[in-house]
Amino acid sequence: MATTTLPETEIVTSKKPSTKYVYFFGGGKADGNGKMKDELGGKGAGLAEMTNAALPVPPGFTIQTEACREFMRHNQVSGEVDRQMEEALKHLEELQGQKLGKGENPLLVSVRSGAKFSMPGMMDTILNLGLNDQSVEALAKRTNNPRFAYDSYRRLIQMFGNVVLEIEKAEFEKVFDAKKKQRKAKLDTDLDAKALQGVITEYKKVVKKHAKRDFPQDAHEQLVMARDAVFRSWNNERAGHYRRINNISDDLGTAVNVQAMVFGNLGDTSGTGVGFTRNPATGNKEFYGEFLLNAQGEDVVSGVRTPVHILQLEKIMPEVYNQLREITTRLEKHYRDMQDFEFTIQDGKLYMLQTRNGKRTGRAAVRVAIQMVEEGLITKEEAIFRVEPNQLYDFLVPRLDENDIRPENVLTDKGLPASPGAAVGQIVFTADEAVEKAGHGAKKNPVILVRGETTPEDIHGMEVAVGILTSRGGMTSHAAVVTRGMGKCCVAGAGEVQVDEHAREMRVKGQVFKDGDWISLDGTTGRVMKGKLKTVDASQDDPELQTLMGWAEPFRKIGVRANADIPRDAIQARAFGAEGIGLCRTEHMFFAEKRIPHMRAMIMADNEKDRRAALKKLLPMQREDFAGLFRAMAGLPVTIRLLDPPLHEFLPKREELMVEIAVLQATKPKSPKLKELKKILRRVEELHEFNPMLGHRGCRLGITYPEITEMQARAIIEAAVAVEKEDVKTHAEVMIPLTATLKEMQNQAAIVRRVADEVFKEKGKTVHYLVGTMIELPRACLIAGEIAKEAEFFSFGTNDLTQTTFGFSRDDINKVLPTYLAEGILKQDPFAVIDREGVGELVRIGIERGRKTRPGLEVGICGEHGGDPSSVEFCHQVGMDYVACSPFRVLTARLAAAQAGASEKLKVEGGRTK
Ligand code: ADP
Ligand code: MG
Ligand code: MG
Repeated sequence: MATTTLPETEIVTSKKPSTKYVYFFGGGKADGNGKMKDELGGKGAGLAEMTNAALPVPPGFTIQTEACREFMRHNQVSGEVDRQMEEALKHLEELQGQKLGKGENPLLVSVRSGAKFSMPGMMDTILNLGLNDQSVEALAKRTNNPRFAYDSYRRLIQMFGNVVLEIEKAEFEKVFDAKKKQRKAKLDTDLDAKALQGVITEYKKVVKKHAKRDFPQDAHEQLVMARDAVFRSWNNERAGHYRRINNISDDLGTAVNVQAMVFGNLGDTSGTGVGFTRNPATGNKEFYGEFLLNAQGEDVVSGVRTPVHILQLEKIMPEVYNQLREITTRLEKHYRDMQDFEFTIQDGKLYMLQTRNGKRTGRAAVRVAIQMVEEGLITKEEAIFRVEPNQLYDFLVPRLDENDIRPENVLTDKGLPASPGAAVGQIVFTADEAVEKAGHGAKKNPVILVRGETTPEDIHGMEVAVGILTSRGGMTSHAAVVTRGMGKCCVAGAGEVQVDEHAREMRVKGQVFKDGDWISLDGTTGRVMKGKLKTVDASQDDPELQTLMGWAEPFRKIGVRANADIPRDAIQARAFGAEGIGLCRTEHMFFAEKRIPHMRAMIMADNEKDRRAALKKLLPMQREDFAGLFRAMAGLPVTIRLLDPPLHEFLPKREELMVEIAVLQATKPKSPKLKELKKILRRVEELHEFNPMLGHRGCRLGITYPEITEMQARAIIEAAVAVEKEDVKTHAEVMIPLTATLKEMQNQAAIVRRVADEVFKEKGKTVHYLVGTMIELPRACLIAGEIAKEAEFFSFGTNDLTQTTFGFSRDDINKVLPTYLAEGILKQDPFAVIDREGVGELVRIGIERGRKTRPGLEVGICGEHGGDPSSVEFCHQVGMDYVACSPFRVLTARLAAAQAGASEKLKVEGGRTK
């Protein structure tokens, strides 16, 4: 591909005339086919494939993505694109026996965008292109339906005005609503031909006023402008945003589909609809979808009129229904995957307008994959790849009982599935009210916080609510991000729901809901239901999940461990299939309420003796925790990291102390507490660091206060000995954090081994254990060969390694990240998806050098990346022994690791490398 910096003068004949820009489909055959998604986009490839399969598809042509890339470089397409487009148009006109926007029977077309990956963020489709002041009269005459003709024309002006001329939709809506009011019309369809003519006149004025030009009467000019608008829309903000969150390359470009119109709005023998070959929420093998009689294009999904279930079509138009069933079944067999299709019926004749692999929930993905194997449609190996590892989260959260859902109770199914799971509760409109209504008991009243959008001020309410519903905001809105972090159900951006926080009302589908009313949310599909629906608890032993994992797991080469600090999490993790603990953060044990005073005493001590005394109090508590972990894991590896965070984290905040001191000084100046507080403040100030992330933490703590390492080593080894005496096997891996030099490693390992030997002697029993290190500094990666002389295992701490490689603070990156992503400087958040080129390269070097010194060195990863499918794939590729992630990511990591193994073994193309 050429660069983007080509000087203007060189563009004149930038492409050889041999480039095929335009692909025709129609008359029983297509130039392209279903495999050509790169060139034709998903929609274009589907239309070509359906045409080749002799399905009823209105003819047309696709202008391929190369033209879009050219447009991005030069802000225009080459003359060759125009030439090929005119040629294709001529072909279409001949085939149809019509002329675009001309004559007694004018040809009208739709102009549809369509990239390789479906992108709802892109341009809206323009329908009825080719209409103008003359052709609308011809259409009225020919169809003998002036109302239909004028309605089609006003829709064109509206869509063209909005999409191509970038006039706010509201400008047109104002005119339309005024006309309805004037005519006392309730529904859009109540406006007659005369009224619509009035609307058209007004619409033209809107165009003139805002676009400073007339609505183009020349159909060819309309077409060129619409095409270029589609190309331009590739780079609009919505589209860019969508690509970023879905990891789609900015360089692909979109195709443009120009297709002869068919009309679903010609009366009661016409209609339009959408559907799925299987239920996308459950995966059940049932015909699923909706349609509307006498409607066009997106009427069916816009919520203006309530659509009818697709099964009803069987009664209304049995022949069409049977044909649709037959076609879609064929499509599913052909694509060997569940299809999501669009169709239009014009005067009793069925037309297919789109087909693609349907989006589905995680549960549906598993069920569909298994059923398709049973049906002989796909192989087990293929089934493994039909489930997106992240979607397995659906199996870990409660869900609504599908048997309890009646269509009439569904208030909307077009909310965004922002955070999976189910929530059933009573509506509240403010965070304070949520707290109040939820109550303070251990068992809270279930409330659902309903807001236009949430802000950080709502956090307290979000915490107590069982679910969140917002009417605005996308998949990365505050509500969506925060609830995903909390593992709480959320439906966001449910546009059909109007939330009036002042009136304390929620309005949807003509119904009004007040606080206290019961609703049910399905965060997995984005549905909102009225009433108190039944839910089904999560179960990891779902038989279908087990079946799929049973097919996938034999391909998995690397282990999956969990990060768990307490026995409860460890037990949970094992239930999810974790094969060990990859990271136990001992500081989490110190933060416990009962322990923090001893921890503080230890920190406050100004001599070794006092410090040891405090540590002695902590020893039995730690020992007990470790014993719990060892018991839970019963011989599986348990990696325990020695104390890592800077000590000031265990003391009160400096500002809080100062306030408390000031208050006491004013109220009780003689209080002994005051003296104590002043002492703590002094220590806090001593411990203050300008950059704690790079400060007195990690092994630096254990080196300056060896008593801490001694106590922790003792707790670990004593626990292991005690548990083994109970006849339970143990496998402790003692991990030294943040090493950068061999000497640090030697210093700490020596303490651990000395203490272990002491314990063995005291107890008269030895256990097997390893001493290794967390590799989280670039220097450690580079001198890994040295460190491996002492370290018996490595665990890559990629959170800190990312931090220190980029020099980004994970806690502060959000100040720059949005801009970096928007500018394309970074493709992804490097703290979520491992940066393969930089951080990944250091990991690679670290493994290679470490294993050169110590062949068979055990290597793993801990931290956020361990649960991210793309990062897991990377870990597989660099030959790690295991990944470690939070318990709720274990299933995801297992499938991602299995897919990585399978794609290598089966030589499946693609994988997750982008
Ligand atoms: P999207 O990518 O948003 O699905 P589409 O291009 O598929 O956009 O079209 C939007 C709507 O217009 C759909 O309902 C589709 O069925 C309808 N539509 C598109 N082209 C035609 C056509 N040639 N005739 C009739 N309806 C059409
Ligand atoms: Mg659309
Ligand atoms: Mg579509």
